[in-house]
Amino acid sequence: MRSSLPDIPEYWFIFQNDRLLLMKNSVPARFPDLHWLSRFKPDFLRQYKLGIFNTIDCFCAELDARAALPDEVEPVPLRKAFEILGNDWYAAAAKAYSVINWDKNHQYCGRCGHATRHKPGTFERVCDTCGLSLYPRISPSIIVLIQKDDKILMSRSPHFPPGAFGLIAGFVEVGESIEDAVHREVKEKVDIQIKNLRYFGSQSWPFPDSLMIGFTAEYASGDIHIDRQEIEAADWYRYDNLPGRPSSSISIAKKLIDYFIAKQSQSS
Ligand SMILES: [Zn+2]
Repeated sequence: MRSSLPDIPEYWFIFQNDRLLLMKNSVPARFPDLHWLSRFKPDFLRQYKLGIFNTIDCFCAELDARAALPDEVEPVPLRKAFEILGNDWYAAAAKAYSVINWDKNHQYCGRCGHATRHKPGTFERVCDTCGLSLYPRISPSIIVLIQKDDKILMSRSPHFPPGAFGLIAGFVEVGESIEDAVHREVKEKVDIQIKNLRYFGSQSWPFPDSLMIGFTAEYASGDIHIDRQEIEAADWYRYDNLPGRPSSSISIAKKLIDYFIAKQSQSS
């Protein structure tokens, strides 16, 4: 699907201090065009071709933090930038941010400490001294919507903004399957058993490097006992009376909850 963004020959996802540069006050959003690019390029610390997204050649770059920005260009915090760009550009923006971070974080070999070099045409940095290859990191994480009749389990972590609730989520640990990770996270965090685990969908979540793998499940047994380290409240909530839901329109948590509400609304 073609984006509503204006046509220019190529799009540049330029980050400075982890913020994405967009033209100020432009609706729909606009990337800095070729005029601004020629001004920024001498201060690029790194740049890569991302590939073609929505028929447009896309690139990413990191601008030196010391480079002054013109008034017309605004550095936008990452999550806000992703929401502004919307679903059509989510994959490109996520890839851009991940590629910049990979290059920035792997300048030196973690095994022998020597400088690495980029292998042309790939997203791979290699250490010529010991042969180690370093790729963009992807950390699989699970998120699960657990249904009990017309209710779902929602919980909040002490790190959430006031009033915000979410679904059970956590990182897959080394050595375990994705399904095992779901059962373990649910058991650890709220101490219940679930059944009928079903794959829902997945989403890159580059904050900084997750791949969120979403599931639905049904309650099987047990009473909620929360792990007070990671969860400070958890309970069952009816579909039409959910507490503070994820505000991010781009998150898979929101897609899971919207799916549940739509399903229940149709059957009630
Ligand atoms: Zn090495």
